Amino acid sequence: YTAKQMQSGVEVYTELADHHDRSRLLLLTQVRRAIADRQFVLHYQPKVSLTDGVVREVEALVRWQHPTRGLLGPAEFIPVVERTGLIHQLTLAILDLALTQAQAWLSDGIAVQIAVNLSARSLHHLTLPGEVADALARHGVPAQYLRLEVTESALMADPDKARNILTRLNELGVSLSLDDFGTGYSSMSYLKHLPVDELKVDRSFINELLRNAEDTAIVRAAIELGHNLGMTVVAEGVEAPEAQHALLAMGCDTAQGYLFAPPLPPHDIVPYLTVHAGQPRTDLCPRRPSH
Ligand code: C2E
Ligand code: MG
Ligand code: MG
Ligand code: MG
Repeated sequence: YTAKQMQSGVEVYTELADHHDRSRLLLLTQVRRAIADRQFVLHYQPKVSLTDGVVREVEALVRWQHPTRGLLGPAEFIPVVERTGLIHQLTLAILDLALTQAQAWLSDGIAVQIAVNLSARSLHHLTLPGEVADALARHGVPAQYLRLEVTESALMADPDKARNILTRLNELGVSLSLDDFGTGYSSMSYLKHLPVDELKVDRSFINELLRNAEDTAIVRAAIELGHNLGMTVVAEGVEAPEAQHALLAMGCDTAQGYLFAPPLPPHDIVPYLTVHAGQPRTDLCPRRPSH
């Protein structure tokens, strides 16, 4: 390259980087405002028991009701926000929304546990357990109705700190899940010492469960590992009845996926919340076909 070409290349690069920075900054400014303006909403996806079809838990998944861009999924903003300290504020705002909903359902006689996703960065904040305890007290929600989901990779960034935080959350009575299991690098000896009571097998292994022998082996092993460590095992991303039946046969406890329900706004999820009615919905979980 000539010096001139190099220079213009650098300029183009700088311009692109600059544009990129500016759009990130704009997004972060908008997120800050959106928290204050309550533009974030939670949709809920049931976790369905494979053995009795009952929904005892739902997972809260954040959406952004953006003033001009419509309803945005987490992929459109979480990764950018996650690179800054703002994620902690967003996490606390989401926790607040989830506990408001939990309290509303509890006062309607609907006893359902709500799972909130934590970002990796939340596990850097030693203040988190105290903040969670405050939020529970403020909303008058017993800790048993809250679950927090953390990913394997989030834990491994600083394993000692993560274990400290999870232990204190567990002492509050909050349940903990290991999300997207199988995609990170946690060692089994580390898992053994975590106060986590649920393992969520990543969707990528469930997708091709029936067509891919390796995925079948991995899912089978994950279910056994989870059970041997005293955890309940959840399969994410279940879309086909055949996968549901295979998972039940492998001893998997719970499933989530479009087969049962996508994430839905609070009003639309209520018919799935059967615990209160004493009359579990059985159509969510058809019996295995008898041969
Ligand atoms: P996740 O916690 O593993 O959530 C599961 C994702 O899979 C959700 O995507 C859900 O809509 C999607 N899903 C559920 N069932 C199916 C299915 O049968 N097939 C397919 N193809 N997908 C299915 P969503 O809502 O876009 O969330 C994506 C990720 O964003 C979540 O993965 C989680 O890591 C993150 N996220 C969502 N809400 C929050 C939040 O409140 N805070 C933080 N920090 N992260 C969040
Ligand atoms: Mg999750
Ligand atoms: Mg997950
Ligand atoms: Mg996942």
